[in-house]
Amino acid sequence: MTTGSAWRRLGGRPVWQHLAALVVVPLLATSAVATTTVADRVAELHATGEAVELMRAGAELDELRRAVDGELLPTLTRSATRDPSSFDIGAFGEERGPLNRQAEKEVRSTREATDLVLSAVPATSAASVTARLTQVKLATARSAADQGTASTAALADRYLELSEWLSEVEDRLLARTTAAGLSEDSALAVSDVVVVAGLTQHASRALPTTFTARVLSGDEQVRVRRRAEYAIGAYESMITGVPPLSGARQRVAWYEATSSPQARQLTEALHRESLVPGSLSGPELLRLRNASGARDRDLSALLGEAVDAAEAAIEAERREAARRVSTTVVLCLLVLAGALAAALAQGRWLSRSLRRLADAASRVGEGQLVDVPRGGPREVRTAAATLAGAAAGLQQVREQADALARGDLAGAVRDEPAPGPLGEVVHTSVQQLVRAVQQREQLQGELAHQAAHDALTGLPNRAAAVRLLQSALHRSARRGAAVGLLFIDLDGFKAVNDTSGHAAGDEVLRAVAARLREVVRAGDVVGRLGGDEFVVVAEDVGDVGGLVDLGQRIIDAVRRPVPLPPGAGPGTARVGASVGVAVSRDGGTGDDAGDVLLAEADTAVYRAKARGRGRVEVFDDDLRAELAARSDLEDALRAGLARGELSLHYQPVVAVADGRLLGYEALARWDRPGVGRVPPDVFVAAAEASSLVCDLGRWVLREATAQLARWRADRPASWGAAEPTVAVNVSGRHLVDPRLLDDVDAALAASGLPPSALVLEITETVLVDGPLALEHLRALRARGVEVSIDDFGTGWTSIGQLSTTPADTLKVDRSFTASDDPGCRDLVALVVHAAHTFGLRVVAEGVEEPEQLVWLRSLGCDAAQGYLFSRPLPAAEVAALPAPGALHAGDRHASTAG
Ligand code: C2E
Ligand code: CA
Ligand code: CA
Repeated sequence: MTTGSAWRRLGGRPVWQHLAALVVVPLLATSAVATTTVADRVAELHATGEAVELMRAGAELDELRRAVDGELLPTLTRSATRDPSSFDIGAFGEERGPLNRQAEKEVRSTREATDLVLSAVPATSAASVTARLTQVKLATARSAADQGTASTAALADRYLELSEWLSEVEDRLLARTTAAGLSEDSALAVSDVVVVAGLTQHASRALPTTFTARVLSGDEQVRVRRRAEYAIGAYESMITGVPPLSGARQRVAWYEATSSPQARQLTEALHRESLVPGSLSGPELLRLRNASGARDRDLSALLGEAVDAAEAAIEAERREAARRVSTTVVLCLLVLAGALAAALAQGRWLSRSLRRLADAASRVGEGQLVDVPRGGPREVRTAAATLAGAAAGLQQVREQADALARGDLAGAVRDEPAPGPLGEVVHTSVQQLVRAVQQREQLQGELAHQAAHDALTGLPNRAAAVRLLQSALHRSARRGAAVGLLFIDLDGFKAVNDTSGHAAGDEVLRAVAARLREVVRAGDVVGRLGGDEFVVVAEDVGDVGGLVDLGQRIIDAVRRPVPLPPGAGPGTARVGASVGVAVSRDGGTGDDAGDVLLAEADTAVYRAKARGRGRVEVFDDDLRAELAARSDLEDALRAGLARGELSLHYQPVVAVADGRLLGYEALARWDRPGVGRVPPDVFVAAAEASSLVCDLGRWVLREATAQLARWRADRPASWGAAEPTVAVNVSGRHLVDPRLLDDVDAALAASGLPPSALVLEITETVLVDGPLALEHLRALRARGVEVSIDDFGTGWTSIGQLSTTPADTLKVDRSFTASDDPGCRDLVALVVHAAHTFGLRVVAEGVEEPEQLVWLRSLGCDAAQGYLFSRPLPAAEVAALPAPGALHAGDRHASTAG
């Protein structure tokens, strides 16, 4: 996992190592305590073992002491029988000789018994050192006794001292046993041993000391007698009352050993002797040996039993201690293992929850907004909850960003910001962004509406209307239905514009737009093509009759007087309408289907106008044939242009004041093979149906500029006179063609003429075709090319608009020049005056009569053009004309061309 390696790179120890360190210290401490406890238990165990050993050694010494005590009587007897002076042997009523031999025998047998006891003491016993010392002491005492080097009294001392020393050592060993820290049961059993051992000491010493006291005399006798009295008294005090033992069986054995008739007799005899020395006769004393021996054997057996019982108790205690050791060890191990297991489990749990948190944190850091697990201790849960909150915030931010990327502005804006400062910043940023986008969208919508709509009436403009028509055609074709198109051309609008002014014209257009919208059905589209031309697109039409009815209703609606706002003319204005109807036919859904239908309706309205205006005409087969003929003509013209069938004629333009030649207008001529000369109005109109008119215009530009350049080269102007210009007619379609400026530049460049040598004639109706036409005109004038408004007066440009028209010259239409109507004459005068006011020159077209020239001169008109001066002529014939500046009215007006 990549995140794992990422942690490792960050350094630090994993949490489980810290936890392990935390656990190890108490575990070690616990182990130490456990070890000490176990050691204590083991020490206890050792103590019990030692107690058994000490008690056994005590018992061994007791047996040894009894054996030593057993040697005393025969040894003293033998010594006494050897030395007659020592004591009155006769008092024992026996013969010295046999007594001596008897004593000799007993000395050997008791010594053998003692040696047996000595050899039985194991080398490992706590009594072994004492036993070896006893052996040495005995050896010296025995040799002294055998060789007769010591007196009977000295022998008695030695034996008694040895016996007492053994008793002391025995007491010390047994005392150590009691002090070994035994349990109560064992301690009682051991004290039984001590008590019984004490009893045996006193019992076994009573008779030998009594006997010894009898064979001694003087101080020695007194000293031994005290010992005898002590032994007898101690013994008697121990056996009176309840035996001081813990075990019931032992108490019975104790009682039996001390209460048998023989034992009682012995005790009584010795008691009497100690009270009244000499009350026992010698033979009586010797006879008591048997009773003493029997009782001592009983007591020895009792001691053995006590030792066994104590050993058993101690052994039980040892076993208990051993069991406790193993229990303790097992318990300690269990506690350790449990502590370890608990620590491991806790550690695993803790480190797993931390690892999961760290894992989630690093994933969130990498941008994966995973679910954060919520387990673990409280601190980890708190951190996880915080991280989850942060991740949720990031998720929200990401969703906002996604929504923004999808363009889902509503989804991008949240009611509440994500928590934290980042959330605040993002929330505000997104709000601002969304607001900016919404403002821009609104602006775009407004711009799109402006681009698609006519500012004056709010109706879709020409381009939008054609688009809507096109989509209506597509929809209807799918349903197998037909689309009807009504082309509405106002009658008498120009007159309103000219007589009542621009504002009145605008008001009429707005009123007509409103009435059209009222008349049509809800789904029908009303558009303004430009000028005084409107269209209605009607979907799902039943038959042509319905469309004609609609057309009639439109005519009726438009005919109603339009009230004018105060200050915009005389109360009301009146206009009429001519309507052309065309109906889509099956399959007409190509890219140009809309244009075709528009052309058909246009053709129909043309006929409506021709047939007297104020009527509805339907595009029918006749008109279709007319359109087809126009299309044929277009094809022929395209071919003719390529084949060089076209030529240019030039008509001079002269100054009204003095008849100077100012320039020429280039006029296209087509000599169609097999047909003859086709009128330019006709073929130019056919060319305007397509971009062919641009090709034509391009050709005329090149041809005309080239011709003028040749003339300028051949016939330089006389000194002081201006060089002639050439005027080229530019169709509306070519004017808005993106290539127009390039075409002009190319023609000028090819001919080498300055831009001022070129005049472009534009009919005033094309000026309404939108911003591109105006833009091109401005660009052309900026170059120095002259712009002339052709056929001025036939369109609907009002005189007031002249101030903003990007033109240098007005060409007053021939109909005005030729008219005898006083109103028209006044209008020409007004136009000349206004044009001069706005810095424009005026050219009068179609001057045929000298009176016209006189009149124009009186008006101050600048230039004139017409048959009076010259018909349009081929270039070759123009070359034959007099040099510029020398042409005068009437000089040449008999040309054949036209
Ligand atoms: P326009 O531009 O108004 O051209 C003047 C027309 O008036 C010419 O007719 C000319 O022969 C005729 N004319 C000149 N003086 C007199 C006169 O004293 N009396 C009479 N009755 N007529 C006179 P044309 O040559 O037949 O041209 C007709 C129209 O064809 C032109 O009107 C112009 O709109 C168009 N046209 C001609 N050549 C071109 C061309 O190269 N390009 C374009 N776009 N249109 C052209
Ligand atoms: Ca012209
Ligand atoms: Ca003209």
